Amino acid sequence: MGSTFTVINPSTATAIREVPRHSVEEVDAIIAKAARAFETWRTVAPGDRARLLRRFAAVVDEHNEELARLEVENSGHTIGNARWEAGNVRDVLNYYSAAPERLFGRQIPVANGLDVTFKEPLGVIGIIVPWNFPMPIAGWGFGPALAAGNTVVLKPAEITPLTALRLGELALEAGIPEGVFNIVTGSGSVVGERFVTHPLVRKLVFTGSTDVGKGIMRGAADQVKPVTLELGGKSANIIFADSDLERAAATAPYGVFDNAGQDCCARSRILVQASVFDRFMERFEVAVKGVRVEDPSLDTSEMGPLITRAHHEHVASFLDGANVAFRGVKPEGPGFWMEPHVLIAESNDRCFTEEIFGPVVSVMRFEDEADAIRIANDSIYGLSGSIWTNDLGRAVRVARAVESGNLSVNSHSSVRYWTPFGGYKQSGLGRELGPDALDAFTETKNVFFDTQH
Ligand code: NAD
Repeated sequence: MGSTFTVINPSTATAIREVPRHSVEEVDAIIAKAARAFETWRTVAPGDRARLLRRFAAVVDEHNEELARLEVENSGHTIGNARWEAGNVRDVLNYYSAAPERLFGRQIPVANGLDVTFKEPLGVIGIIVPWNFPMPIAGWGFGPALAAGNTVVLKPAEITPLTALRLGELALEAGIPEGVFNIVTGSGSVVGERFVTHPLVRKLVFTGSTDVGKGIMRGAADQVKPVTLELGGKSANIIFADSDLERAAATAPYGVFDNAGQDCCARSRILVQASVFDRFMERFEVAVKGVRVEDPSLDTSEMGPLITRAHHEHVASFLDGANVAFRGVKPEGPGFWMEPHVLIAESNDRCFTEEIFGPVVSVMRFEDEADAIRIANDSIYGLSGSIWTNDLGRAVRVARAVESGNLSVNSHSSVRYWTPFGGYKQSGLGRELGPDALDAFTETKNVFFDTQH
């Protein structure tokens, strides 16, 4: 075994545990093990594979509180969020446990024979996970991948590996065979990079920053290796004068400051129709100051700390010289705490164009519907967003016009495990979750049977 790295609790800035930093040779051995396990996992009878996935879901559910507490300690997530996240892994496993018996091909009419298609598993799937939602993002990959008959090598982010390691143990406890679901800890440039270059890793699921995602896509091109990419975002929360302004203002903080803004779906640009701008800002200020930023292990906590000291410095760099309208509150003491910040932005400001990934939101006025759509789409990203209006026609028009993979009208919801999730433009490639995710983990094979000879 090579070296280790230290996992830190971001709420207290204290060390929790040492975790192995795997070498290329160790990664290769784990990939080889996953490739061997694929030969038997793919032949497990569909009903048995389904039962094993349901059992895995049940074991995750039995350990919900333990997994949630681990995430609070490792990632500073609020306990309420962390319980939801462990529950999401359970739900994704249960949802895709219905897939093995339903991986239908087609029978297509042909002359002189029989033509059928099969949905074949790909082999070893490499899943690379960021630090901001360690459990759900892992599950969105491994749930459908395993259900389709693939085996998995999963790399959590260096700084947040603890829940992934525990999920690996729980899979074995549930009866998932050795080698089918493997957690590989270590750095992106060694472990992640090896997933890209190793010929036995047949597909990559990468969630993380747009820059690293571009590198993964370039590397994957060498072997024409398929990729699913879930990348950055700079989503717009568009508030029209005809909306329920009270609700729009009361909920806007939670659309951006959830998980301390370390959320790819954060509505980090708020566009407000000029005629209600001042009224909105008055109410929004009250709501932002009411966000409970406190010890994330408390049931009342609505926002925890940032993930690391370095990330805190990065987020703070956006505040230099910024036009701050108002701020929320934060606790004193150790840990990487930052209060919510509301900035007034111009369209070329760095804070308005770049993903900050912290509790900082930029607000801007717009004149009319066309102006709102133009500003919302003036971004390299297109992941999420919200539209607040009580005019049904406008809601439909704007939802169709905004270039984004996941929109919500009069709410800020983005993720349901049974609906598709993914980005336009530089926010990603492909879709996770929902009924079609299995397509990303299977090849379609067409076979013609000659019935004339
Ligand atoms: P990151 O790109 O730095 O790292 C993501 C993962 O990639 C980590 O496991 C890292 O170790 C690994 N990695 C780093 N360099 C690599 C390389 N050269 N080869 C292979 N793997 C490598 O991202 P992060 O800072 O952990 O996460 C934050 C980013 O993730 C934000 O941009 C956020 O928007 C994005 N994100 C997107 C979604 C989505 O669904 N679209 C969800 C969550 C986070």
